[in-house]
Amino acid sequence: MTNQEERKTVWDTLINASSILFTTHVRPDGDGIASELALFLLMRLLGKRAIIVNQDKTPEMYRWLPSADEIITLQEIGQFPEEPADLSVLLDCSSLSRIGRVADIVKRSRKVLAIDHHESPNSVEHLCYLETEASSIGEILYNLIPGIHSYLNKDIATCLYTSIMTDTGSFAYSNTTRDVFQIVYHLLDYDVHPDLVYSMVYNRKSLNHFHLLAEAFSLMKLDKSGKVVYIMLPESVYRRTGANEEDNEGLLEIVRGLKGVELIILLRQIEGKKVKGSLRSVNRIDCHYLAKKFGGGGHLRASGFVIDGDVEGIGQATVDNILDELKEQGWI
Ligand code: 5GP
Ligand code: MN
Repeated sequence: MTNQEERKTVWDTLINASSILFTTHVRPDGDGIASELALFLLMRLLGKRAIIVNQDKTPEMYRWLPSADEIITLQEIGQFPEEPADLSVLLDCSSLSRIGRVADIVKRSRKVLAIDHHESPNSVEHLCYLETEASSIGEILYNLIPGIHSYLNKDIATCLYTSIMTDTGSFAYSNTTRDVFQIVYHLLDYDVHPDLVYSMVYNRKSLNHFHLLAEAFSLMKLDKSGKVVYIMLPESVYRRTGANEEDNEGLLEIVRGLKGVELIILLRQIEGKKVKGSLRSVNRIDCHYLAKKFGGGGHLRASGFVIDGDVEGIGQATVDNILDELKEQGWI
């Protein structure tokens, strides 16, 4: 199928459903949340019964988005909806393993569709629309919806803009293409305010966030080649600073600014005795390849994984493991 035919299949699947459940990956980010809201608002305009159910709560930085208060988390839903949805739509991920326990609800719907841009094999379980070249799900939706301009309004345009802005690192990453600027140019026709969106997302940090950054910078280490920066954040750092999961936001962006850095590794303690790994490549190192070694995934230049254990126990061994792999691949 050509891209155009595939897009039509996806659009037909959406408009043929009368009830739709939207969801995104665990620990949702700006792209996941804002693209869910964009498509949810658009489907509501078309008279569909639509709900958004995510495993994890919406980070504070995205709660101002139009209709964000309509997002239901698994804890709030109590019990499963009586009626299974005609269609469940996964956004910004394509595998049921990425949506946590929402998978149990999704499995009950008549059809499942995924719209994704991660480097992952097409899921065989359901219909999957994948564009790995797309900057964000916002970009995919903009191109996918026929006659998008007849549906756009300030709320939907703001959601699409936020999806694109957050996944392009505010138009700074290599996925910031001519097409991205062209889409954004048109979105600005709908009273989207880039300055407001930016400050609502990034300029409302807590003091704990800065205390966490201070500790993180003091723990920052460079490998022998000088190309790999790694930071390990054990539970004690979060306890001392009072920082939470959301307070990590922005740390990796700042570290990218270090001269000569090619790979950033962040290992931090998360709930359930697990370690969350985040990998960011500045140049040519393939993060997706590395993350897959630990059962994770993502993009070429930004990937993640979750492994069992404590940062104190397995952090250094994990870093050493990645450094060995980098040497083997000739990347450092
Ligand atoms: P982050 O480091 O910001 O959590 O994630 C970077 C990228 O990798 C995002 O696109 C995210 O969706 C993906 N990613 C993060 N953690 C995982 C994971 O455990 N599994 C998979 N498949 N992808 C992940
Ligand atoms: Mn994304």
